[in-house]
Amino acid sequence: MSMNLRIKIIVAITLLCAAAGCGVGHGPVKEHVPAAKSGDSQRVIKEVIPDVWRIGGTSWGSKDFATLSAKGDSNVYLIQLKNGLILVDCATIKSMPIIEDNIRLAGFEPDQISEMLLPHSHADHTEAARAWRKRYGLRTHLSEVGAIFMDRDDSSLLGFVGGDYPLKYAPFVVDHRVRDGEVFGVAGTEVAATYVPGHTMDSTLFTLELNGQIIGVSGDFVFGPAEWNKGGGGIGAMRTLWKASLRDYRDSLKNVLQMEIDVLLPGHGRIIAGRENVRKELTTALATIENLIATEKIYIFGMHKPQLKRWMKANGFDD
Ligand SMILES: [Zn+2]
Repeated sequence: MSMNLRIKIIVAITLLCAAAGCGVGHGPVKEHVPAAKSGDSQRVIKEVIPDVWRIGGTSWGSKDFATLSAKGDSNVYLIQLKNGLILVDCATIKSMPIIEDNIRLAGFEPDQISEMLLPHSHADHTEAARAWRKRYGLRTHLSEVGAIFMDRDDSSLLGFVGGDYPLKYAPFVVDHRVRDGEVFGVAGTEVAATYVPGHTMDSTLFTLELNGQIIGVSGDFVFGPAEWNKGGGGIGAMRTLWKASLRDYRDSLKNVLQMEIDVLLPGHGRIIAGRENVRKELTTALATIENLIATEKIYIFGMHKPQLKRWMKANGFDD
């Protein structure tokens, strides 16, 4: 099998990260425990660091990391900036009422939110963006790359994977098409954008200063810690469907390792707090990528073995 063909195989890595502090050393953490609703487990809305609340997302199997919204959702964060509230990602449409509720549990109203940062366009992060924008007039910020795909009505970057990921294609207006290296204002705070292609072509790291710390909004670039990868170095699932690239990923990680980031807010898993912990996760993720490039190891994700064998046969691969 040629390298090209190998790279064309659906590749996925679902390694998640080792335990790092969650809101460690940054003052008191407020917790709001809502009454359980029918069918819901009890939800706990945490201020994970001062002025940042995790208001949506699933546990991804971690026992001590709360499921706050519908199955399959990315993390959703609410951030209080100088001149207003912003959302980071908004997850799926069916979670919208739950997330609205979670915002209230954090002590705010959804109509106080003015902007939404979207580190990439995968649907588990953005399916509800259209609805949020329509109901609350949020200004959306997404990579120009993602916006171009949406202009073309091309849903490949949204991350649909046949029947195992039954989300709807809900293109939304990108109010601000973010460029690499751009610095722009969001609710009175400067936000810097760094393109970090690899997981997807439109992956973007947003950095901003909050209470004296540099916060990185990282989407699926590096995942937070979870039960099933205590060694750390979690990276986003990679599929040719959404134009993943190991080599781009390597370059992006090297680039971000030059930056000073105190806290990462990942799209899945726990937050990564502390400059050394951030560096460790990035370094371990880079080692994962280097290893994949060096060994041509292929990790298959999202297909059961018989299904995979049929797919390989149909696509001309030998066993
Ligand atoms: Zn993703």
